[in-house]
Amino acid sequence: QPTIGVLAVQGDVREHVQALQLAGARAIAVRRPSEVEAVDGLVIPGGESTTMDKLVRIFDLHEPLVARLQDGLPAYGSCAGMIMLADRILDGHRDQQTLGGLDITVRRNAFGRQVDSFEEDLRIRELGPEPVRAVFIRAPWVEDVGDAVQVLASVRVEGADHPVAVRQGNLVATSFHPEVTGDHRVHAWFTDLVRRA
Ligand code: GLN
Repeated sequence: QPTIGVLAVQGDVREHVQALQLAGARAIAVRRPSEVEAVDGLVIPGGESTTMDKLVRIFDLHEPLVARLQDGLPAYGSCAGMIMLADRILDGHRDQQTLGGLDITVRRNAFGRQVDSFEEDLRIRELGPEPVRAVFIRAPWVEDVGDAVQVLASVRVEGADHPVAVRQGNLVATSFHPEVTGDHRVHAWFTDLVRRA
C-alpha cells in the first residue's frame, strides 16, 4: 500500500484523503518538510493557488517539494493543484510562484469569462469507457503543452478545445475536482501510478 500525501496548507484536503483511502492508498496530510520526505506520491488539492503558494513558502515546503518533484515524485494536482504543478502561469497574481514540473502553461480562472462553475461528462481513456463527471470551480485550463505532455481530455469553448486533464510521466493534473463526485477512478488510477513508480 503506497503512502500518498495530500498537501495540507490550504484547500479541500479532507475530500482527497478520503478518496485516496477508498482507492486503496494510505493517505497522510503533508504540512512539514519531514512529511514531504515520507511520501511515495503527492496530491495537491484545489483551493486558491496564490494563497497555497504563499503558505507553501511560509511553511518552508517550497524547496523540499521542488526537490522531490525534480527527483521524480509522482504527483497529481487538481484545479489550484494543477496551477501549482505548472511550469508557467497566465493571469497569475503578481509574484505568484509554482512548484513546477509539468511542462504546461495554465490560464487561471480561464472559464470565468464564460461561467464560474459548471459540470461536464468527459471521456478519459485511462479511466475506462464510463465518462467522468467533471466539476469545474473557477478552474484553470491548459493553454499550451510541451512535447512530453499527453492531453487526456479537453473542453470545447466557443469552437476551441482547451485541455483540462494532462499527464507527463508520473505527473498528472486536472482542471476539475474528482474528489467531490464519489467517483474515485482518478484517485485509483493515480494510486496505481504511484504503486508502479
Ligand atoms: N481559481 C483558483 C486559483 O486560481 C483555483 C480554483 C480551485 O482550485 N477550485 O487558484
